[in-house]
Amino acid sequence: MTPSPFAEPQEIQRDLDRMRPPDEARAIIERHVPRMPSEPVPLASATWRILASDLVAPEDHPPFPASTMDGFAVVAEDGSPWREIIGDQHAGHVLDVEVTEGYTVRIMTGAPVPPGANAVVPVEATELADDHVVIHQEDVPSGANIRPVGSDVRKGDLILPAGTTLGPAEIGLVANMGMNPVAVARRPRVSVLSTGDELVEPGDPLGPGQIRDSNRFSLTTALAAEPCEITYSGKAPDRRDELERFLRDRMEVDDVIVTSGGVSMGGLDLVKAILFDAEDVMVHFRRLYLKPGKPLNFATRGKTLIFGLPGNPVSSLVTFELFIRPALRLMSGAREVDRPRLRVRLEEGTPASDRIEFQRGIVTAGPDGQLMARSTGTQQSSRLASFVGANALLVIPPRERPYEAGEEIEALMLAPPRSHP
Ligand code: AMP
Ligand code: MG
Repeated sequence: MTPSPFAEPQEIQRDLDRMRPPDEARAIIERHVPRMPSEPVPLASATWRILASDLVAPEDHPPFPASTMDGFAVVAEDGSPWREIIGDQHAGHVLDVEVTEGYTVRIMTGAPVPPGANAVVPVEATELADDHVVIHQEDVPSGANIRPVGSDVRKGDLILPAGTTLGPAEIGLVANMGMNPVAVARRPRVSVLSTGDELVEPGDPLGPGQIRDSNRFSLTTALAAEPCEITYSGKAPDRRDELERFLRDRMEVDDVIVTSGGVSMGGLDLVKAILFDAEDVMVHFRRLYLKPGKPLNFATRGKTLIFGLPGNPVSSLVTFELFIRPALRLMSGAREVDRPRLRVRLEEGTPASDRIEFQRGIVTAGPDGQLMARSTGTQQSSRLASFVGANALLVIPPRERPYEAGEEIEALMLAPPRSHP
């Protein structure tokens, strides 16, 4: 019998080798994702961090009525074109004058409009004559070229909701509001381990039967774009004691452990075995209706999440995208957890599998706006080149008959669609 999503962990454990749909796997992960606590961080180090709480404007912006032009601050209702200049108002200073009819203050963009004045006439609409200015503008409306107090942001407004990623505009707004330090989610600590006797460090010579460790570099690069702190990355041979020691050490300090390799059906699939055997580790699933990525292992020990990714380079990156990236974003309370999904039309037919397939693809927006998708070529899970240049994962649900050119499917967008050549 299938355990309900609310089944006791023991029940799930017994059910371990049942193939699960990726959505169910995702739901299981979500139930185990801990929320990162908030920490105050100086604004200068808060780049791309995720806001831990709603930010409410503590003050009005602009805090004073500000000129939007270089020009002359005047009384709008004054009918005469002649005004005597009684001062210069620069940004960052406050002149102690009052503008009355017949008088004006020269004013710079962003400077406070002096008391009495209720409009600014741009310099282009004036002509200087000694200590006077002549206004060549028939009608000067009250309020012209002035940003009133609070017109950009009003005190008490929700300026950024919790979960906002602090990109250039957002962090500018936080700075603008004077909030320094700012409360952001602590970044989950993540370690990455490649496993396998065959792995050699890039730069070292290859012996017989050896290949280079590429997963570590792919995964740490994928992680670098996410809200997390990589605390360790390395590789280990297929030695049970060594792998066990690594997992034990990292469980004490990390929020997330990512391993690659050692989770398939072979005799040396040690990661899978160690996770299964450890008494304090709960394995939640390890087989998915997913292509690539069938043998993904997910386990927890206390609050630490452990992802045993398949060793094939494409499988490990696809499962990172589908499960680890959203988990890290959920942990951080990010508002945007998932990549956007768009409806696209297949440029070419493709065979269907009995598992949901995530093909590496290229989505292009045609001149008519129609999104077209094609796969990047041979989709073997060892072929990293199939991921190079891909801007999408094309979602190919399982079915009996192949997909035909022109059919609509969904694409998980890793980057914006390409524009038509
Ligand atoms: P495994 O899951 O350990 O059986 O590995 C599956 C396939 O992925 C094998 O062909 C491995 O050689 C390959 N592989 C495992 N780890 C890595 C890695 N870190 N970099 C590149 N290929 C790997
Ligand atoms: Mg291996």
